[in-house]
Amino acid sequence: MSNPASHPIQAVRGMNDILPEHAGYWHWLEDSVRDVLTHYGYTEIRLPIVEKTELFLRTLGEVTDIVEKEMYTFADRNGDSLTLRPEGTAGCVRAAIENGLLHNQVQRLWYKGPMFRHERPQQGRYRQFYQIGAETFGMAGPDIDAELILMTARLWRMLGVYDNLVLHVNSLGTAQARAAYREKLVTYFSAHSAQLDEDSTRRLHANPLRILDSKNPQMQTLIAGAPQLLDHLDDESRAHFSRLCAVLDAAGVAYVVNPRLVRGLDYYGKTVFEWVTTRLGAQGTVCAGGRYDVLVEELGGKPTPAAGFAMGVERLVTLLMETGVTPPVVAPHAYMIVAGEAAEQQAMVLAETLRDGIPHLRLTVNCGGGSFKSQFKKADKSGARYALLLGEDEVVRGEIGIKSLRPTPLGGQIQAPLGEQSKAPAQQTIAQKDLINALLDIIEE
Ligand code: ATP
Ligand code: MG
Repeated sequence: MSNPASHPIQAVRGMNDILPEHAGYWHWLEDSVRDVLTHYGYTEIRLPIVEKTELFLRTLGEVTDIVEKEMYTFADRNGDSLTLRPEGTAGCVRAAIENGLLHNQVQRLWYKGPMFRHERPQQGRYRQFYQIGAETFGMAGPDIDAELILMTARLWRMLGVYDNLVLHVNSLGTAQARAAYREKLVTYFSAHSAQLDEDSTRRLHANPLRILDSKNPQMQTLIAGAPQLLDHLDDESRAHFSRLCAVLDAAGVAYVVNPRLVRGLDYYGKTVFEWVTTRLGAQGTVCAGGRYDVLVEELGGKPTPAAGFAMGVERLVTLLMETGVTPPVVAPHAYMIVAGEAAEQQAMVLAETLRDGIPHLRLTVNCGGGSFKSQFKKADKSGARYALLLGEDEVVRGEIGIKSLRPTPLGGQIQAPLGEQSKAPAQQTIAQKDLINALLDIIEE
């Protein structure tokens, strides 16, 4: 009879383990993003995962998916209402104000980490997911909007996915322009109220712009016929938008102007953009951002222009896998096979000496014993290029065997008799004291 107490416990729905087999993609993506951001002069800010609930209520807008139904909110032990962050911008702005980062200076910041939204889990939509975001403060012009976009374009090219992404841009104008446009939208949608779905009916008066963002296929024709904000923009926003488009044109970054792009959160104004792929089904937006010039003031800071973006790491990793882009291999250079008690002891010390002598060496030492055969299997599975063999005989003679497990990389030379790569895997035995030099000769940097 099975013991109920021993039943395995499963993860929370929509919250995923990121398994070792995918770690290479995550590292490559995260390292590439960090490199690009750093090269553009952005510095990292690390933010708490939990914030006061009020922070999100004040910033995101009451009639948004997140605030209406997606927040993980709980009472702290002293009764304070806290929320697992659903996005990073609000916390970043809070931190920038609180730590005096916005006084008479510009800031280019970035962050990464998990976000939490109680959505219906499906492909590309999880309850814990990772974002990497950038936020800039103190720069009001379209130049910084362009920089954010050009920086992401560079990243996509580095990762080899640029050709799979389309850039959508739009301008949401100023608050006044949106207020005037909002009246027109309400008139239009009210005239077609029978065609509105439940969400849109609720939004009709509270937040009609969000109707444009509806993912409901049945709503798309109605939405396509709605008046467009771009036709009702204020002069300043119109000039800002055309200067942004001019930079993108000059830099050769293609885009589509998408008048229905409104973004899900209330704090956006003027420029908004999304990078979208058709390779991931309905959840095709991998990176989204725009200007949020009013947010700092709304959170109690001095008026400070701001713009940023956030990218969804899971969706990007899936896109890399879908398009067959593979991260650089980080298999071990060598796997040390160890037989016998004396060898086991010597192996640990020898391995440390090798690591001292070759700091970039990736070396796995077999631990936990096993026959030669099973250790060779492990060596092969690890992807190592070479096996190092340390048995009783080698210990007595102060030697070590080197066996090539896969073809030598270009330029990597190993002395005879290991040279004949086309025949059976080459093997040789050398003095342990010569091992560092031998390895330096054959492993790549
Ligand atoms: P969507 O329209 O797809 O719901 P959103 O407007 O809610 O996206 P943002 O708040 O702009 O998304 O978040 C930025 C990016 O984070 C998205 O473009 C997406 O790549 C990713 N993202 C958002 N929500 C999720 C989620 N639940 N699971 C995985 N990734 C997500
Ligand atoms: Mg969403």
